[in-house]
Amino acid sequence: MNTVANQLPREFRPPRVQTVFDVGKVRRDFPILAQRVRGKKLVYLDNAATSQKPQVVIDAISRYYEEGNANIHRGVHYLSERATEEHEAARKTVQNFINAEYAHEIIFVRGATEGINLVAQTYGRANVKAGDEVLITAMEHHSNIVPWQILCEEKGARLRVAPINDRGELLLDEFERLLNPRTRIVGVTHVSNALGTINPISRIVEMAHRHNIPVLVDGAQAVPHAKVDVQALDVDFYVFSGHKVFAPTGIGVLYGKTALLEAMPPYQGGGDMISSVTFEKTSYNKLPYKFEAGTPNVAGAIGLGTAIEYLNGLGIDNVAAYEHEVLGYSTEAISKIPGIRLIGTASQKAGVLSFVLEGVHPHDIGTILDQEGIAIRTGHHCAQPIMQRFLRSLQHKRRSRRPGSRHPKGAGGFRLMSDLRELYQDVILEHSKAPRNYRELPLANHKAEGYNPLCGDHFTLYVDLEGDRVRDISFQGSGCAISKASASMLTQVIKGKTRAEAQKLFEKFLQLVKGEGNGNQAELGKLAVFSGVCEFPVRVKCATLVWHTLQAALEGKQEAISTE
Ligand code: PMP
Repeated sequence: MNTVANQLPREFRPPRVQTVFDVGKVRRDFPILAQRVRGKKLVYLDNAATSQKPQVVIDAISRYYEEGNANIHRGVHYLSERATEEHEAARKTVQNFINAEYAHEIIFVRGATEGINLVAQTYGRANVKAGDEVLITAMEHHSNIVPWQILCEEKGARLRVAPINDRGELLLDEFERLLNPRTRIVGVTHVSNALGTINPISRIVEMAHRHNIPVLVDGAQAVPHAKVDVQALDVDFYVFSGHKVFAPTGIGVLYGKTALLEAMPPYQGGGDMISSVTFEKTSYNKLPYKFEAGTPNVAGAIGLGTAIEYLNGLGIDNVAAYEHEVLGYSTEAISKIPGIRLIGTASQKAGVLSFVLEGVHPHDIGTILDQEGIAIRTGHHCAQPIMQRFLRSLQHKRRSRRPGSRHPKGAGGFRLMSDLRELYQDVILEHSKAPRNYRELPLANHKAEGYNPLCGDHFTLYVDLEGDRVRDISFQGSGCAISKASASMLTQVIKGKTRAEAQKLFEKFLQLVKGEGNGNQAELGKLAVFSGVCEFPVRVKCATLVWHTLQAALEGKQEAISTE
């Protein structure tokens, strides 16, 4: 962050404060941060998606495979004993990290997602019946929504959602009102990945426990930022993912209180989770092994233990204080950019800054920053319901602006537009701002919806086919500059073409945007302006979305998902 700050105009620079946090030294612990991306020093701001790994974690994993690899809990040989010891030592490290009472309350899973699914499929299936309710909040990540939806669907139960206010804070009164004798479990995030909101877990737990309802807390975004004490919070279940806290992917933790874990049926069957097996009957192993079927991710657990020791070495309180300082400074700085709206302004926030810049699609901002070596997350952040809620509220505010009052389009917006112009050709921007054939086509005899799950771009394409020829074509929907311009130009070039001609053009276009083919762009005509897309592989989906939609429409399908 200091690097970014030093490049900023003086008035944006953070004050020099005494901090125990040596950013330069910490940066040097992470080898990936030493590289240059697109010729620039890498500034990695996508930690909420996944954190980078310090050298000590990389070394611990390599060392395990170089010197200590063996299957655990099985062999009597030296390597197996050593691997088992290291695996169980990592469990103790996690126990201390979140202050669980017993090591057997730490279940190793693949990540937060698997931890929640485990609870939904074991505790949930055993305790939720038709007519019961599961209570979550409006700011949950998909992984704390969908497992409960699956359970509720299977059982005929009801998923209730506690609302939040415009700042992104949980409405505690509403939450409490939703607790009732039919509520079987509460699922709530500790820190929202999309908004940064820190939820008052102790108060939530207190309210739920008054009704004897257990609480599962999704701590994926909490453990990297603050000291978590599961006993002090009195949570019943707590999950987190290793990869967000400097450990490798594929390892995570489910904490559960002993009594609850003891009473729950196993999740998966297999080796290690049994104490004896006959064809007639199997008895299950004790905790935690009852929930750890099959060969576990030993290297991952060792990596997680090392990552936690690394974080402990930095001092989680130092980390929290430094992040707080950076959050305060960057919130203030970013708020000054004209056209910026912050998404999530809760009074209690962790280090997450979400924003929209009016008139510029997130993907386009992401691409511009990527050119500067800056990695940010764009799109719905795996939290579509909450993003849609804020989008609706922004649209409402925009509509209710006084007629004639224009949004102040200041330096931020203009600067970005000129960056975009450099990046994309003018013609792409022109089409995205004034798309051609942007309307419904009442006479259309073919129609398909195109959807890009990565970013939420969504188009409806209308085609009026006369015999084999496209008599008329139009589209509606929303997307980034590239996807919208692509749709606009597609409608221009496809009108009057036969199916076979359209298909041939699609294949040529695909080659162009993927940087394949013989470079002969003559047949593509004006579509050749998309040749630059091949430099941004993730944007290929944006350019081809409407083409996939056309293909679906011509094949009589109603839906297309951009897959390349
Ligand atoms: N919950 C939250 C709040 C998250 O941010 C994430 C990851 N973005 C998850 C759950 C899921 O984590 P994972 O994909 O590692 O299982």
